[in-house]
Amino acid sequence: MKRKLAAGNWKMNGTNASLGELQSLTTAHPDPRVDILICPPATLIVQAAALTADSPLMIGGQDCHSAPSGAHTGDISAPMLADAGATAVLLGHSERRENHNETSDLVAEKALAAWSAGLTAVICLGETLAQREAAQTLDVIATQLDTSLPDGATGTNTVIAYEPVWAIGTGLTPSTAQIAEVHDFLRARLADRLGAAQANAIRLLYGGSVKPANADEIFATSNVDGALVGGASLKSADFSPIISALE
Ligand code: PGA
Repeated sequence: MKRKLAAGNWKMNGTNASLGELQSLTTAHPDPRVDILICPPATLIVQAAALTADSPLMIGGQDCHSAPSGAHTGDISAPMLADAGATAVLLGHSERRENHNETSDLVAEKALAAWSAGLTAVICLGETLAQREAAQTLDVIATQLDTSLPDGATGTNTVIAYEPVWAIGTGLTPSTAQIAEVHDFLRARLADRLGAAQANAIRLLYGGSVKPANADEIFATSNVDGALVGGASLKSADFSPIISALE
């Protein structure tokens, strides 16, 4: 059976002092029944990977360039993330799409780069509030999925995270019916493209204001295979109960 995935996105938060949170997580979950991935800022990946090497905790990047190396000041490539000890990378997070004008075409190029480096691509997508209010959610999701996901996706190399932009960092969450609608849609669309077996193997995460208080309800929702957690992943005291809810 496919393992659920609890993924934490630290965003631009965390210094060496934050590594203690990883230690607390590994102590609290020595033998978790779900996969756990933490994506700290790039500056901490080497230390985080070393610290968790003997634990089931996985470390990921938050973005990568589409090229393996070259004249791209300030960027980090997928092989560099792998070399630093990462096994996954978030791609197409709405903050990247919005703040860095990342298109779904670029996200697909980055996913190919991630796969080439042996990383799991966690491809993020989601509608804005304006798009939801205009009843465009499923159209937006369909286009983002079709374009951001290159051919060749498997349950091993790909995770999809549905994150409504309006739910990120706001304390707002969609109803479970709204989450189910999108997740069921994503599963069916993946099945159309990849066949049912491959589509079922790809984990679909929900992200956007997941907290210990709403985790049970969200995890009981149709086709939700885990969560991508921002704010509540920064402290092990918040993230640990979310992991437990998934178990
Ligand atoms: P949040 O962020 O949990 O703080 O809403 C989620 C995300 O952006 O991945």
